[in-house]
Amino acid sequence: PTLQSVFPSRSPDPAIIVPATGSTGPVVVSFDTLSKLVGQARKFIASLDLAPGSAIAIALPNSLEFVVLFFAVSYSGYIAAPLNPALKQSEFEFYLADLSCPVAFVPKTAEREAVIKAAAKSADNVRIFELEASTESINVKTGAGESVGLGSLQSKSVSEAKADDVALVLHTSGTTGRPKIVPLTHTNLATSISNIVQTYKLTKADRSMLVMPLFHVHGLLCGFLAPLSVASGVIVPLKFSAHSFWKDFVELGANWYTAVPTIHQILLKSPSPFDNGAKGPNVRFIRSCSSALAPATMKQLEERFKAPVLEAYAMTEASHQMTSNDLPPGKRKSGSVGRAQGVVKVAILDQEGNEVKQGGEGEICVKGANVTKGYRNNEAANKSSFTASGFFRTGDQGKLDADGFVYITGRIKELINRGGEKISPLELDALMLEIPEVAEAVSFAVPDEMYGQEVHATVVVKPGAKLSEGDVKKFMSERVAKFKVPKRVYFTETMPKTATGKIQRKNISETFFKPEG
Ligand code: ATP
Ligand code: MG
Repeated sequence: PTLQSVFPSRSPDPAIIVPATGSTGPVVVSFDTLSKLVGQARKFIASLDLAPGSAIAIALPNSLEFVVLFFAVSYSGYIAAPLNPALKQSEFEFYLADLSCPVAFVPKTAEREAVIKAAAKSADNVRIFELEASTESINVKTGAGESVGLGSLQSKSVSEAKADDVALVLHTSGTTGRPKIVPLTHTNLATSISNIVQTYKLTKADRSMLVMPLFHVHGLLCGFLAPLSVASGVIVPLKFSAHSFWKDFVELGANWYTAVPTIHQILLKSPSPFDNGAKGPNVRFIRSCSSALAPATMKQLEERFKAPVLEAYAMTEASHQMTSNDLPPGKRKSGSVGRAQGVVKVAILDQEGNEVKQGGEGEICVKGANVTKGYRNNEAANKSSFTASGFFRTGDQGKLDADGFVYITGRIKELINRGGEKISPLELDALMLEIPEVAEAVSFAVPDEMYGQEVHATVVVKPGAKLSEGDVKKFMSERVAKFKVPKRVYFTETMPKTATGKIQRKNISETFFKPEG
């Protein structure tokens, strides 16, 4: 199916609710209004006379403008290329060139400067536009500063997408190397949307609050498109703020949200309507995805917000979700990312592509109409990423239990190889978190003359607590083999993370490890 066939086009019911900011009250955009705005933007895009299949950069924060452009671009058969508006100029240069974008939409804020400078440097002459949407109409500002109201734009025939057209391109997070370009077709996205709807039994009666950025699959597919597809309105705050989260959640009638563990932890630390035994709003479930949820965090979330926490497992190449724990009365297992959902198939394969005996460790591999057909401009990665039987290799290491529940045990590329001994950094991180003073801990490989790689670690200590390098080493040496004990421990106040709260071990290694001499 095409995306356009997945979403309601006519209905006076709310599609998007932007919470109140400053003196303006909440803005409610109905499906009827959204369709009108998307239609206006499609006429504008048609007027640009772009080559079919062009990627249009959407370097915008979560906003009505982002949403309208995403639909306008993909419905018209062009490719939406969302970019984090907070990227630096050099990063925009990389992405705009990597995707050969002829056009980029930029924010109204100061963040636009970095994109504009990058576009000017690009060999492809990227045209830049600023867009402003209200419930009435859209205005577009050109690079030269002139403003065009699209409501009055001459009717131009718009192009229509086909199910096999690419609708979206995103880069992987670059956790394990240079980010790779992942093209996702209308069918890939529609399949994922329907899988997510089935997993959480989403209906029109639900309302979700979007806290993840729309420029990654987590926020776009699960936080936004899936609920919208069942005509359930989505609350789209312009910025995540722990301060206004619960106020908006309660006032605007939300009953679930999905986020990365970092965001859950921030919410646990801030005041909520559940404090001091208060009843609090009715939360149907809380979803956690994109990096490992510590069992302790899961327990705290469930106790505090009185709702089941469902951990899921996802990746860009699979249009987000692959596995999830089930809603009660279905099974949930703490420490597991759940079982394959919808049409997704999961298998644990060895390096030759043979299935590993049930319970054994191997590479988690997936198959399904949600999975990309292959990376763009990356034959080498495509060759090594698909098995002869058509499974996609996730690069994650894991195992399956007898119920088909998946346990992630590490990342194949992140394993620390100390003189041939393979060490899982996840195992070490989890152990260090058991030290009462430790708030966050990340272990990683550093180059070593003797062993090729050596284990070091960086730790964030809880406020007010005291901990020394020797304390960490002592704790670890009582629990793991000597070769696994971090040789050096660095202390920091904040752990560097990506926009989606991901740990890039390589980046952390480079930040803290300074070779001598
Ligand atoms: P790159 O492929 O460029 O190295 P990346 O794999 O981090 O980057 P994404 O597609 O954003 O890029 O992330 C997918 C990965 O996130 C998965 O392969 C897995 O390692 C991790 N992940 C997702 N969900 C979970 C989870 N619930 N627990 C642990 N890890 C998870
Ligand atoms: Mg990956």
